[in-house]
Amino acid sequence: MKTEKFGPLIDGHPYVDDKCPACSCAFKIGDFIARVPIGPGAYTNEMAKCRNNLTYNPIKICCHYSCITGERRVKERRSSGRRSSDS
Ligand SMILES: [Zn+2]
Repeated sequence: MKTEKFGPLIDGHPYVDDKCPACSCAFKIGDFIARVPIGPGAYTNEMAKCRNNLTYNPIKICCHYSCITGERRVKERRSSGRRSSDS
């Protein structure tokens, strides 16, 4: 299964300053995150599907994308991603 990449986190995003459960570091503006399925949680219907090896809707937690995939983190933020144009 391919890990879906979300981000970069923007100022005011609800995850900014929360801790990544994989590395215990806070999510920062500009970080990319991924959602990791951990199991059926306490939902009895989903638990039954899981026990029977059926597709179920898992509880997901957010981690840094790099903590899930091993991808290198971008240490230096790009100072400008915009181009000014007169057109
Ligand atoms: Zn992390």
